Amino acid sequence: MDIKLEELKILFDEKQIREKIKELSAKLNKLYKGEEVIAICALKGAVIFASDLIRELNMPLRIEFIRLSSYGSSTKSSGKVNAVDIKLPDLNEKNVLIIEDIVDTGLTAKFLVDFIHMNFHVKSLKFCSLLDKKVTRKVEIEPDFYGFDIDDKFVVGYGLDYDEHYRNLPYIAYK
Ligand code: 5GP
Repeated sequence: MDIKLEELKILFDEKQIREKIKELSAKLNKLYKGEEVIAICALKGAVIFASDLIRELNMPLRIEFIRLSSYGSSTKSSGKVNAVDIKLPDLNEKNVLIIEDIVDTGLTAKFLVDFIHMNFHVKSLKFCSLLDKKVTRKVEIEPDFYGFDIDDKFVVGYGLDYDEHYRNLPYIAYK
């Protein structure tokens, strides 16, 4: 599949995304009640969402970045998660919030949650994804928080790419 800018249809515009981030951040602010959080942003896709979301969070917060890949240049998951770069500080006894762009098969989310539980005794672990593609799930995992539920569409924009393009679009779109 090839995706051209002029073929893209907007699924969620800037205003809808902004409002959704306000809703999500209000829930997170209520949950953590001023306790320190270590946010873990899964690169590259979640970088725009994470940077907008954390600016609405009011607790003391540190951010870490990890890099995983499961798609390569295709529009379907390879079914295998590659840990490209996972260097994390000591997360023992910390409130950890994983920030993802989208949960699709769920393999990446499961990999990350298992990885953190295997390596640390965290105080709490929550998973927040902007998008949730429930229909394509292959493993049993649900984000604790998500912005929008979408059906089986390949989406781009607002951090999400097609072969490394379109991450800079301020909206989320599909072909
Ligand atoms: P999963 O491991 O849940 O199958 O996939 C998670 C990763 O696949 C996401 O973090 C994202 O990078 C990529 N992905 C899944 N669905 C889409 C999509 O519709 N568009 C784009 N651009 N990436 C997607």
